Formats: sequence, C-alpha cells, structure tokens
Amino acid sequence: MDNLEQEYLKIKAVLNQKQKEIGQLYNEKVEVQNFFKLQKEVQELQEQMLKIIKAINSQNWSTCKHIWLVTKQSYDPGEGRTYNYCSCLKCGLSYEVFDEYETKGKEALNDLTKAQMFEFLQKHPSARYRGLHSNYYANLEETQNIYRKIKKRNPDLSDEIVLQLIEEQLNKKKGLTRKRKG
Ligand SMILES: [Zn+2]
Repeated sequence: MDNLEQEYLKIKAVLNQKQKEIGQLYNEKVEVQNFFKLQKEVQELQEQMLKIIKAINSQNWSTCKHIWLVTKQSYDPGEGRTYNYCSCLKCGLSYEVFDEYETKGKEALNDLTKAQMFEFLQKHPSARYRGLHSNYYANLEETQNIYRKIKKRNPDLSDEIVLQLIEEQLNKKKGLTRKRKG
C-alpha cells in the first residue's frame, strides 16, 4: 500500500513537471515534435496513475473487514418485490452499482470508481460474506460520517461495538423523526 502510494506520488510529480513544460510550450514558439512527445508522455503517466489507483482500491476492498449496511432499497413492480443493496461503511464498496446499472444502464458506470466497483464485485462475488452485516437501512454517506466520528473519538473500539453504536444512533434518529411527525 505504502509502496503504491509512493509510486503514485512520484508519477504525479513527473506528470506535473511535464504538464508545466507543455504549458510553457504554448507560450513559446511551439516545437511541434517536442510537444507531441510530451503529450504522449503525459498520457502514459496518467494511465500509470490510473492503474495504481485501481490497485489501491482493489487492495482496500479485498482486505477490508467490511461493515455492511442496507443503503438502498429498490422496488421492482414487475416482480412485486423489493431489492436490498448493501454498502460497506468502512471502505465504501457498494452493491448500489448493480442497481444503477440495472436502472440507468451502462452510462451509470461512467464514473471511474463505480466502474471499478462493478468489475470488482463481479469478480469477487463472495465479498459480501466478509465482515459484519446489519439489516439497518440508512444512507451510506450519513452512516460513514457517524462511523468516522465514533472511530475518531474511540479508535480502538471493535467493529462489533462500533456497529452497535451506529445502530443506536440510527434508532435515536428514527425516534426523533417519528416524534417530529407526531
Ligand atoms: Zn469494506
């Protein structure tokens, strides 16, 4: 992981330098050959960076001891049933990409991370069996925020306890909304 990050930063520094050189060429008399050479180098560096990001994501997703929560429910009127999609609030891996793919088609996967997730989950169908599961239904971003806050205050708490605390908070919130409505 550290190695990958270091490599990423190294490439990024070279990329910045090359982009600066390209910027300078715009201002000077353009040497066409040099310009194309630099552009090609920039493209290659960007591809290398992308590969590293992919490797880092894949490493995170396969080593994370997930905490799964239901983050999306989608009703299929044809089948008359509701599908639950879960996401990990630690690493962000999310089965919601399958719902997006079903409902919006391929364009939904234009987002790089989503496309990677889709590919990863297809390749690793057992990912969902790893870690802890909760039947609670809550927005991913919101729950990730609660998770981060709890971990910041108590970095040593086990996942089990953290999940309990999160469920308690979600319960409290549910109680509050009910009160407000009533
Ligand atoms: Zn995870």
